Amino acid sequence: MKSPFEIFRDPAAMRARAEDLRRDGRKIAVVPTMGALHEGHLTLVRHARARADVVILTIFVNPTQFGPKEDLSRYPRDEEGDLAKARPAGIDLAFCPSAEAMYVPGSQTFIEVRELQQPLEGASRPGHFAGVATIVSKLFHITKPHLAVFGEKDYQQLAIIRRMVRDLDFDIEIQGVPIVREVDGLALSSRNVYLSPEQRVAALSLSRGLAAAAAAFEAGERSSAALVAAARAPIEAEPLARIDYVELRDADELTTVERVERRAVLALAVFVGATRLIDNRVLA
Ligand code: AMP
Repeated sequence: MKSPFEIFRDPAAMRARAEDLRRDGRKIAVVPTMGALHEGHLTLVRHARARADVVILTIFVNPTQFGPKEDLSRYPRDEEGDLAKARPAGIDLAFCPSAEAMYVPGSQTFIEVRELQQPLEGASRPGHFAGVATIVSKLFHITKPHLAVFGEKDYQQLAIIRRMVRDLDFDIEIQGVPIVREVDGLALSSRNVYLSPEQRVAALSLSRGLAAAAAAFEAGERSSAALVAAARAPIEAEPLARIDYVELRDADELTTVERVERRAVLALAVFVGATRLIDNRVLA
């Protein structure tokens, strides 16, 4: 018999439930999110559903991965709406702790993935990935998954989590899911709700830039400078968009590349108005 849907807020209760599930021989998958769920998140849930006996969704807007000038306080929150979407997509349990439950007074231990955390998002958002790696490892310890599912939308985050799991011997399989986009190309993001209709149009320049670079790559272009220039052009032509970075990096080590000789990732971050959007495309 299928057990009833459960929401956990207390880390100790969640951990005890996960322990019971493991003892019963159930395969656990976890899908960590910050809520404000969209079709991208639901795709991760369905991916997990197809590969595990029990799917745990976590919803936690993690304060330690936001910088002092970022959107922590206004980040969209809608737990009820999220659960109404996630349940039919196939979750069995949700873990929705408070910040106080996750960071008890005196918390001072952080995980850093030294090299991979430096460039791209790490350069623009100091401390962000220490917050991410730390909360993900805490969520792993509490939900005890066999499998964890992340989106390639946050390419560097996925690379960092894979490396952390390898380096620290977490016994967890990490799977990545391709970026889910609107039909017009815009990568789904919880932050898209901040965009006005004009900004929504301007935001299409990100995926257009990536498509332009991919077309140049397909046509044989291998120079990093030329591929980056191809990606920048449509974004620079858009008055409402302001580039934070557009960079071509090695797909595994995230080191700089002059010419694409093995798998590379074109990653970008762009402000559209006050909203910072990220997107990427692997060139292989
Ligand atoms: P977030 O709630 O933004 O922290 O995202 C939670 C998870 O959903 C992360 O693993 C993201 O990479 C993933 N995700 C967010 N947007 C998308 C998308 N458009 N396509 C695929 N995965 C996504």
